[in-house]
Amino acid sequence: MSKIEQTNRFGNSAITDIPDNVPMFSQPGHKLRTSNNIVDRSALSNDYQVIDTSQLTKLPGQKLQSISHDDQEGIIRLEAGNEHEQHVPNQFTGPSFRTQKERFRFDGHKMMHHLDRVQAWQNGQRFAPVHIDMGLTKFCNTACLYCYAVVQNMTKGTMIGREALLNFVRDCGKLGVRSLGFIGDGEPTLNPTLYDATVLAGELGIDTAMATNGLLLDMDRAHDLLKNMSYIRFNLSAGTPEGFRRVHQSKEANFHLLIDKIRELVKIKKENNYKCTLGLQMVLIPECFDEVLAEAKLGAELGVDYFVVKHCSDSEYKEIGIDYDAYLKIGDVLKQAEQFSNDHYVVQVKWNKINAAGETNLYKDGFRKYDQCFGTPFLLQISGNGKIYPCGPFFNKERFYIGDLHTDSFYDLVATSERYWQVHKDVAESVDVHKDCAIGCRQDYVNKFLWDLKNPPEHINFI
Ligand code: SF4
Repeated sequence: MSKIEQTNRFGNSAITDIPDNVPMFSQPGHKLRTSNNIVDRSALSNDYQVIDTSQLTKLPGQKLQSISHDDQEGIIRLEAGNEHEQHVPNQFTGPSFRTQKERFRFDGHKMMHHLDRVQAWQNGQRFAPVHIDMGLTKFCNTACLYCYAVVQNMTKGTMIGREALLNFVRDCGKLGVRSLGFIGDGEPTLNPTLYDATVLAGELGIDTAMATNGLLLDMDRAHDLLKNMSYIRFNLSAGTPEGFRRVHQSKEANFHLLIDKIRELVKIKKENNYKCTLGLQMVLIPECFDEVLAEAKLGAELGVDYFVVKHCSDSEYKEIGIDYDAYLKIGDVLKQAEQFSNDHYVVQVKWNKINAAGETNLYKDGFRKYDQCFGTPFLLQISGNGKIYPCGPFFNKERFYIGDLHTDSFYDLVATSERYWQVHKDVAESVDVHKDCAIGCRQDYVNKFLWDLKNPPEHINFI
């Protein structure tokens, strides 16, 4: 018996016992069991018959090679033009493909990491949202062509007041809200309480993140943001000053201002070893198709962590006027952009949504792959004026109005009020997601997961 010790493909030491009298092939083979030595199983059989290779069928371009070993014969199939590389059918040939771990999940959900809340929902209990997306203002300093907020009644100067915002963050801490995204509605850096709210959330153990155009970001508070936020995402849909002017309807000089700020943030982050991830997000519309590659390259040069490309969500009345069929023409360029990825920089396209254009007319016109919306108590959205609704597309729809951070305690709303839970129930029971909702809303992936959970197939134990 020979003992063969080797490191297996999972990096562990593995000892394999192989009987001395077992016949062996010399080709590289199944590493786990035989440590590169392939047992010639045909030779173990008494009924072994010599194969007439001329009788065997071959794939086009394939070559057959006979192998003789101790009075036994076998064949190996070789690919044409690659005769030195011997492919052994149906046998694992040593270290091979590795599935890359997903560093970020841009194109999906993470509900499996919050099963305690899922269980509370299944048991009909009250529970705090896992995540809340919220605007901090209702106005902006740019006018991007793709902006969804313009269909949500933007009002200059409107923002959540300082005390209301800080009290809300404290309530989130008490309730056990796990993360806050200052994302949606107006530009968050226009609310001066952004920085203190972020620091307070950090002290209370709540993760925070922000999506910003970055132009007004106060660099004197850069450390507070980088120290406390999980990520800062820059809404940038151009890789050149000219494209920036066109898509964001801002001055070309602002492109340079933004790039300088991002460069400085990357430097501060690296010098201080802050965990905050810095990324660029392009909302893809036909007007910026020609900017994709330039921005992918720019992100690599800046040293940010990622560049993500997402589709543009239109409203249920198609007020932004997105032609989803146009996405079908840009697939090659997007794949080329993904090639800029390296060990420190992820370029990723949200293919699920972009490919919706290639789906049936039903899906791309807004029909969902589920019939009810259960996601809003898990992922709530709050408008930049402090008004609470179950989701962004329903901002300003009074039937779904839950309360106002300026007059209501968020803690009381979730823990004791009837109104909060009645609105979520109304959404789940009355909203026709195929007709009443924006295309591909923020809760879409979560809804699909919860719908599947609520509507199990037969034989669930046969996993
Ligand atoms: S499915 Fe409809 S109701 Fe539910 S979150 Fe999305 S837009 Fe809102």
